[in-house]
Amino acid sequence: MVFVFTSCQTIFNISPYESYVKSLETSGISKSSMGKKWISSGQNALLKPNESVKLPFKSEIFFREIAPNAISYRLKYEEYAKLTFKITSKGKDNNGVYVDIFVDNPNKSRVKNFYVKDTIFVYEDNNTQNLILRIQPQLLINQYVTVEIIENPKLAFPVKNGSNKDIQSFWGVERDGGQRRHEGVDIFNKKGTPILAVEDGTIARVETNILGGKVVWQRLGSFGQSIYYAHLDSQAVSAGQAVKKGDIVGFMGNTGNAKYTASHLHFGIYTGSGAIDPLLYIQKRDTIPGKLKLSEKYLGDELVIKTENGQVPVNLLSVSSGAINYADYLGNLQSINHMNTNGKIKVKFKPNPSVQNIINEPFSEGIPIAKFNVKETFKILGYVDNYLYLEQNDVKGWVLKE
Ligand SMILES: [Zn+2]
Repeated sequence: MVFVFTSCQTIFNISPYESYVKSLETSGISKSSMGKKWISSGQNALLKPNESVKLPFKSEIFFREIAPNAISYRLKYEEYAKLTFKITSKGKDNNGVYVDIFVDNPNKSRVKNFYVKDTIFVYEDNNTQNLILRIQPQLLINQYVTVEIIENPKLAFPVKNGSNKDIQSFWGVERDGGQRRHEGVDIFNKKGTPILAVEDGTIARVETNILGGKVVWQRLGSFGQSIYYAHLDSQAVSAGQAVKKGDIVGFMGNTGNAKYTASHLHFGIYTGSGAIDPLLYIQKRDTIPGKLKLSEKYLGDELVIKTENGQVPVNLLSVSSGAINYADYLGNLQSINHMNTNGKIKVKFKPNPSVQNIINEPFSEGIPIAKFNVKETFKILGYVDNYLYLEQNDVKGWVLKE
């Protein structure tokens, strides 16, 4: 059974990403150094995400055509939330990017996959889990991409024009001298304030009981949970009725054991195994991502940064509200959370007078990319080990130190 299911997935559910990999294989491009780098970048992004995301999140990315890279983000999905992903790409042509979301389990189960220029989609599930979002453009493309991820509560707020500060009594507080605990939250407002369905569903029961007074029970289609609205002044629905999110189910009051208390809604969520704390299912979130760790204006530029080995050139891959990702001079991706771009570079070394060529890497195997003339003007940009990084006649590269 499992085998049949797996093979159907392989045959009929090939993702845009996998289909692109297949086209690289068929054309033989996968065997070129660029092709190999593209495929290994995608695999590495899945095995070792570049950045752990704190929500709400924003990242600006610039993929350079000469450096095939993928970038990936690890984030936690909570069962009480829904995540909105917004991906925008700005390329010269109509190029999109591959957007793939995986559950971070041993199988890396893929849950979303697109090849798109712009998209907004919502992710929700019954279970808390870690996700990996991977973004990768096609080969040989310069592409800017913006990624935004916002967390919102899974359910709508149940009181019209209400806010978090109206929630004044929480889950688990003792009731009746400790004989029972509070199985919900209380949201205060004026008597008669409309009480709104928190999600689409069906009204299961409309009744009166001793503790809750006038109550409404709603069953949610999607998650098999029951919503309990209590202490209503009056009910506005009847059993069996289908409701949409935002429909009025009743009006706030203080019926039942709330008759000596200010008007409020007692709001509860019941699952197959009893009541759960409803707070995070409805509490409104901060949805504005923090400031980017570095201005996006540096994307696509080469910067020289100080490291413990010297002052080295790097190419920024992304700047986000949490980190800065760059490719170092060897092409390896690194993640840091602070980069000083204002520091003046001071290098007191000189080129070795016997040097004749500027080479592409700071190693003896480096390939010559231009002639070097020690008598012409040049600008030293950085250094590492025995090599200086410099610019002469618009060429940047490495020469041996004196
Ligand atoms: Zn209550």
